Amino acid sequence: MEELLIKQSKAYQNHMINFLKELLSIDSYTLNTGEVNKVTHIMKSRLSSLGFTVVMNSAKGQGDCLEAYNGTKGQILLIGHTDMAQTLTGRESFDVSDGRIVCPGVGDMKGGLVTLYYALKVLKDLQMLPGSLRIVLSSDEEQASPFSRKYITAAAMNAKLCLSLEPARANGAVVIARKGGTYFTLTVKGRSAHSGVEPEKGISAAQELAHKIIHLHKLSDFKAGITVNVGYLNAGTTLGNAIAGQGVAKIDVKYWTPEQGARTVREIRQICSISSIPGTTLTLEQHPGFQPMVNTPQIQWLLRTLETNGRKLGTEIKWVKTGGEGDAGFCSSAGIPVVCGMGPVAGLLHSPEEYLETDSLWKRTALLADSLITINKRLNNGE
Ligand SMILES: [Zn+2]
Repeated sequence: MEELLIKQSKAYQNHMINFLKELLSIDSYTLNTGEVNKVTHIMKSRLSSLGFTVVMNSAKGQGDCLEAYNGTKGQILLIGHTDMAQTLTGRESFDVSDGRIVCPGVGDMKGGLVTLYYALKVLKDLQMLPGSLRIVLSSDEEQASPFSRKYITAAAMNAKLCLSLEPARANGAVVIARKGGTYFTLTVKGRSAHSGVEPEKGISAAQELAHKIIHLHKLSDFKAGITVNVGYLNAGTTLGNAIAGQGVAKIDVKYWTPEQGARTVREIRQICSISSIPGTTLTLEQHPGFQPMVNTPQIQWLLRTLETNGRKLGTEIKWVKTGGEGDAGFCSSAGIPVVCGMGPVAGLLHSPEEYLETDSLWKRTALLADSLITINKRLNNGE
């Protein structure tokens, strides 16, 4: 069977490159919702052509979150996103060199969308398409999916496992754990005053922030994988000749487990609930982040399946944990095993030099197709 899948996937390699080229011509930067929707609607017509029922979840000011299914059970959830982290402004087209395609968004994750569609097409051609698939494509993943997360979570609650089409790492590895994260804005109000004439009348927001930053950074525990980082800081006026009357800091938090996250958030709230400089007032606002992708023990058979299928297809599968967050975390917090990085091999993500290994298009297409057949069989056997 693997030979058949390789042959069929290879036969589509040029079609895949052309489809990728079509998607890369669209500037689907995450805030360009109109352009994101162009990608989403292309995926809608492609998936419809394979017999999927496609539902578009819309809301004012948001890109459409696509859901598709081809049966009633939806045991296997496939996720991806149609937005990207960078804009194409000032870029003519993509470059092809040394077996790589170079363009913003090529790996993260237009290559994954191409792999998704062609893996399903190959299976449909061979009349082997499982009738238990559900697909959710986020329109705002690069902003931590504030709109799409509820659709991903709801689909995961009804699925047995999830494969995410984010890119494989540069060394071809597939992702088995991702950090979760959250963000805060800390605003401090003090009182400004002339720093020469009557400094004693001032209450320094800058000094208050300095105390807070020291305490906040002490919460980091690199060994345990917890990072608390003030990544943005501003206080006072541009000239800097007054006691700073106000200030703001943005705090970025990363962790491996929900327990670590809950504890760290509690500690941050505690630190920011007390003023170190009398007379200052502090306001802490939390912004949504990603849930960590932590795997359940059931992931073991899924990993062995992918390893075995990879070997049969001539690709050695490696595993990696990454600090980068993603939609896969919503699925793991819904309690199902998740493997991320099932897309083509890519690197330098979120940079202008982002690239995709061209050959990995057909290779990962064959791997996904083969894995869907095996996984479907095992789930039907009650595993
Ligand atoms: Zn991505």
